[in-house]
This record gives sequence, structure tokens and C-alpha cells, in this order.
Amino acid sequence: MSAICIYCSASIKYPEKVNHFITSDICSECLDSILNHQYDLLISFLDNIEAPILLMQPDPRQVRTANKKACELFEKDLSQIERHRSGQVFDCIHSFTEAGCGRDVNCEDCKIRNSVVETFTSGKSFNGVSTVLDTKKNNIIKPYNLQIATEKVGDLALLRIDKYEISLTEDYGGRL
Ligand SMILES: [Zn+2]
Repeated sequence: MSAICIYCSASIKYPEKVNHFITSDICSECLDSILNHQYDLLISFLDNIEAPILLMQPDPRQVRTANKKACELFEKDLSQIERHRSGQVFDCIHSFTEAGCGRDVNCEDCKIRNSVVETFTSGKSFNGVSTVLDTKKNNIIKPYNLQIATEKVGDLALLRIDKYEISLTEDYGGRL
């Protein structure tokens, strides 16, 4: 099984790219070059991905930047996304607590947080991680179905949002 790098046309060897759910069509050398040396290319690389993407940094664990689709999905501009915690980008209610996103007691079991943490610590990719997130926008709290994939790229990690939509089934009446 092999593929062709969309940047340099080199053939991509598997299993080098096994479990790379987000960057399966770009070779390691091109990816490394884009991440480390070519900011303009990084932006176009992210915008060319057909899904909303957050590029995460490890310490502090924040969004370094995001693509246009992510800005559109969350109805935010980059200044409201860059250097913010992902929970703040998602409008998660626990990101508004005093402890903040990732540090609140409610965050301990957060599948999204734990997937991102493990991606950074072990390099493991995740796909199809889903949860129901209570979001707060304009003081209205609504449950959202959120599904993500992660992939470590160099020292950073990509977080792809595969689903972010109001949950129609979740009864949240008693939980507020
Ligand atoms: Zn390449």
C-alpha cells in the first residue's frame, strides 16, 4: 500500500504513515519542512485540508493557529482562536470556570483533552473520538456533539474537527 505526496510526488511508504489520519497524503519530509520553515506554506497546507483544523502546541497547551474552515465553524476570527485553549474555541462551559479549560475538575474525564494530551506524550493518533460537550454562547447553554481526530506533527499536533453540531437527543434539563 502506498500513496503519492501531494507536495513533492514522492511515494509515501506505509507503514511510515500508518495511523496518520490527517496527513496521509503528505510525506514526512515535506510535512517537517512546512511545519518548521515555511509559515506561508503552513497556512495554505492547513487551509487545503477539507475539514476544520486546529494546530495545537504542547506547553502551554494552546491553539497555535487554525484554518479558515475552523474560523467559519466556530464563527471566530483567528485572534479569538490563536493562543486560546481548545475548550475556549469550542465554547465548552468548563473553559469559563476559574480553573479554566483542561484544569477544571470536570475536565479530568474529558475525552478530547485526554486524546490531545496522549497525542503529545505518546505520539499516538486518534480518530473518531466523540463526546457531548456543553457549550455556552451568548449565555445560552447547549449540548453539542463533538468528534475529533488527532495527529502529532513534529512538536505540534493537529486536531481535526469531524463533527460539531447541536445535539438533538441529549436532555440537558437537569444538569445546569
Ligand atoms: Zn513530499
